[in-house]
Amino acid sequence: MTYDRLVCANCAAPVSQGRCPVCRANRERLQQEGPFAGLNPVTLIALLVALVAALALVARTA
Ligand SMILES: [Zn+2]
Repeated sequence: MTYDRLVCANCAAPVSQGRCPVCRANRERLQQEGPFAGLNPVTLIALLVALVAALALVARTA
């Protein structure tokens, strides 16, 4: 992740330093997102629909 380069809108310090509650909340949220940090809910739903469609195709041809 590149969140260590993010600057907080509240205290104008790097979020990774956790100087204010907003920084700490953002830092924890970014750390918890992990490998799926770049995926928003719309992307996840689109991936799920694609997966179901692919499974349906496989089930029909098998
Ligand atoms: Zn801050």
